[in-house]
Amino acid sequence: MTHLLSVDDLGGASGIEEVLRLTDSFVEVSARSIPKVPALRGKTIAWLFYEDSTRTRLSFETAAKRLSADTMNFSVGSSSVNKGESLRDTARTIEAMGVDAIVVRHGSAGAPHRVASWVDASVINAGDGWHEHPTQALLDCYTIRQQLGSLEGRHIAIVGDIKHSRVARSNVLAFSALGAEVTLVAPPTLLPPSVDTWPVKISNDLDAVLPTVDVVYLLRMQRERMTESLLPTLREYTAFWGLTVARAALLRPDALVMHPGPMNRGVEIAAEVADLPRSLIIDQVRNGVAVRMAVLYLLLGSGAELGTTAEERVRA
Ligand code: ASP
Repeated sequence: MTHLLSVDDLGGASGIEEVLRLTDSFVEVSARSIPKVPALRGKTIAWLFYEDSTRTRLSFETAAKRLSADTMNFSVGSSSVNKGESLRDTARTIEAMGVDAIVVRHGSAGAPHRVASWVDASVINAGDGWHEHPTQALLDCYTIRQQLGSLEGRHIAIVGDIKHSRVARSNVLAFSALGAEVTLVAPPTLLPPSVDTWPVKISNDLDAVLPTVDVVYLLRMQRERMTESLLPTLREYTAFWGLTVARAALLRPDALVMHPGPMNRGVEIAAEVADLPRSLIIDQVRNGVAVRMAVLYLLLGSGAELGTTAEERVRA
């Protein structure tokens, strides 16, 4: 693997499992009193973020530091992008300074793929428009596996604004590759036109689905991507699709609640529900660091080959 642009780049269940197994090693590293290994000493990683981010950016940055890599920060607001510099020129400029990997977030689907075609460095997709967010899917798989042992045969409902969600696209690919059954629950206006081709079931009755799930995964209403009015009001959305306290009572006692963040408390998830012990939202963030360490290590570590040898090297 040279780049991580889509969950599909991991080559199905075995590639995803490799990342998850390696993540176990980095969870162990992160728990040490000095959570740092020299694995990527001498490597330089640049962040190319054209869209806002809290979790993804800080977690990639922490992951790189724990692996002893050098990092190069780029922020669109204070760069020559404001003078009209193109994505291609910006990417090639950054590469000319000597980077081994570029982590790209962009509002347009396919932007990281374009960057990968222009530079020799490894490119990691940190979210491209409505398209994909593969490291989010990996950290979500890791979090579910940590709680339930495996995703095989589990029922996961993804609820909300599927249409504008790159998280939904990557998670459907990863969850189904690992053998989970996925049900999308959304109003018809928030489902993408291509959804018939996805390996999922579809429902618009959240109350009927909730008692059957192992995991309910809420999505944010992505208002920044909505170009038309797809919902009467947010209050109505919450009434039909929000995980309110009353609705959370329909869940089985062992069912888990997830959300990629940032949350709109009181819209897709009630504040009280987000803070329940069954809510894994903080575990997702915590695991994000170790998962991103695993991804950076697989792309840039010595030999960059997948497999148990990589795990052994990290443990050594
Ligand atoms: N943080 C996730 C993303 O960048 C989810 C969201 O923004 O709602 O796609």
